[in-house]
Amino acid sequence: MPSTPILFNSSSLFEHFVQANTLKQIQSIFYQICITEGIDTTDFSNIYPLLRKIDEGKSNSKAEKLWTFLDKRRNFAEYDRQKICKEMNVLIIGAGPCGLRAGIEAALLGAKVIIVEQRDKFSRNNVLHLWEFVIQDLKALGAKIFYPKFCTGSIEHISIRQLQCILTKVALVLGVQIYDGISFSEILEPSTNTTTSESCCNEGWKAKFEPHNHLLSEYQFDVLIGADGKRNTLPGFPKQVVRGKLAIGITANFVNKKSAAEEKVQEISGVAYIFNQTFFKDMQAKTGIDLENIVYYKDETHYFVMCAKKQSLLGKENVDQEMLCKYAMQAADFATEGKLPQLEYSLNHRGQCDVAMFDFTALYSALHSTHLIERSGKSLIVTIIGDSLHEPFWPTGSGCARGFLGVFDAAWMLRSFGLNQLSAAEIIAERENVLKLLAQTTKDKMGKGKYTIDPATRYPFLAKSNDLKRILETQIDSDNIEHKSQKLPKWSNAVENFDFDHKCSLLKFCQHALISFKIKICNFKAMNWSDGLALAGLVAKFRKDLINFFELSRNSDSMFILNHVLSVLEEEYGISKPSQSIFITDNNEDDLIRYIEKVVNHLRRDAGF
Ligand code: FAD
Repeated sequence: MPSTPILFNSSSLFEHFVQANTLKQIQSIFYQICITEGIDTTDFSNIYPLLRKIDEGKSNSKAEKLWTFLDKRRNFAEYDRQKICKEMNVLIIGAGPCGLRAGIEAALLGAKVIIVEQRDKFSRNNVLHLWEFVIQDLKALGAKIFYPKFCTGSIEHISIRQLQCILTKVALVLGVQIYDGISFSEILEPSTNTTTSESCCNEGWKAKFEPHNHLLSEYQFDVLIGADGKRNTLPGFPKQVVRGKLAIGITANFVNKKSAAEEKVQEISGVAYIFNQTFFKDMQAKTGIDLENIVYYKDETHYFVMCAKKQSLLGKENVDQEMLCKYAMQAADFATEGKLPQLEYSLNHRGQCDVAMFDFTALYSALHSTHLIERSGKSLIVTIIGDSLHEPFWPTGSGCARGFLGVFDAAWMLRSFGLNQLSAAEIIAERENVLKLLAQTTKDKMGKGKYTIDPATRYPFLAKSNDLKRILETQIDSDNIEHKSQKLPKWSNAVENFDFDHKCSLLKFCQHALISFKIKICNFKAMNWSDGLALAGLVAKFRKDLINFFELSRNSDSMFILNHVLSVLEEEYGISKPSQSIFITDNNEDDLIRYIEKVVNHLRRDAGF
């Protein structure tokens, strides 16, 4: 008897989606909702309207609330009903707060958006203080539906991981595709072997990823957004360094058991040496710890961040992890007057005590945000946002605030490219003018305002640039000397992407089905399928009666496993055994895909979707 793995209807699945608290859960439940309702997760422009429709009449009040928020947002005039960028393909590097927020904006403009994230979990416990307009922005995206405690009362902070969870849910619902456990390595220029009279080639801009040969290496995009944090992998963005006096930041997270005693302890929104010398002198006398300032937020963890004076750390090079743990714990204990009982470190993504040290002595700021590269008639807009663009000084709590402003500025630029009314140089010039204003924004100046992506709503004075010649020379790199950037870009999604989307859709189905067997596949290359385990897992997921995966996988003979699965599939579904060569060389990738697709179609039918 076929077994149906989907245990919930889509309405209760939505509740599970709202509650999901890890990247894996969020992705998996979202996928289940889509598959249950027959929604293709690569059909980016239809995901939101289709999701919205299925809940009609099922009165899940949380879903209804979310649709109200997102409808309102989608209907902003700036997005022109998701038409402006509908032929643009966007690749975003990094699913940090800014990468995810950028994904949402690009999707609202109608673009196809893929985000790649090198980590496979959201594990950053650190707590961010948010400026008021960021809180309003997130609330308007439905943050409180997913996290009711979000910025309640006077609390203006959230852990990075919780913020990522909220933004991921909104992004997915709006049609953004997020791939985790995949790292961007480099940009690949369009191949020039297919030339026409206009020296235009069919292949567009692509990227190299780790794992190598991931299916995404076939994705052709027009916009590349670097949101990979201060590491910034993208070349061509010179930086200026702002050197301050030595500032070593230490963050520490302790388990919050939410006991009555812990509830009573007051947060410390920021106490600095110059304002309370007695406190710090006292701390130094009692513990030997010499700090410039300290902050304590009670969130999912007890989070402390402090700036240490170098002499009290005995020189950064000498600080070992054990000493750092002791140091931060003592400071936390002193600052909370010993009222947090039994301080116990939370664990970071490496399973170690969550304590870290950051050097803020040199802060980097990019000199420009965007460049355009043209090769063989294909344009690529490369832009950076978030910490990649402007590294924040943590005591100002400006990271997400300026990060989001930069995201809006980048979105406005994409809109201008989509509208195609100005030259590329004019559009980039406008973007760079706005960048000059970014560092001048302050919490007080920004206030509560509900801003849009239009810079005029956010910055009081917008200068007009007359520096187009410099932009053309330094930020537009073209192999077409005569028509540099004059040619209207032909966006990737204007041409049929069926093949790629189709393969992604099939891959996603297989990946989700194989999660419980801990089998990871990232493409349709023979080596992923040759030992028969992926195929066996796929069948076992839906038809336990046909294949006992755990028993079969104990067999060390991979030829036996593969042949066994192929025979079972032939007997049950009448799918003829394919030539063994499809499992040996990559020359027959299309045949392998066709075979897997046949299998998947039968399994889906059995499972009822
Ligand atoms: P990140 O959060 O760094 O995200 C980048 C993402 O890209 C990561 O998930 C990373 O895994 C991924 N990535 C990197 N390379 C690749 C690759 N090659 N391929 C795929 N993925 C990749 N900000 C505030 O607003 N308020 C505060 O109170 C505050 N306090 C802070 C305290 C400290 C001690 C520090 C260090 C920072 C603080 N910040 C604060 C800053 C805040 O953390 C950042 O501004 C914010 O996280 C920036 O987000 P981002 O998306 O630009 O980059």
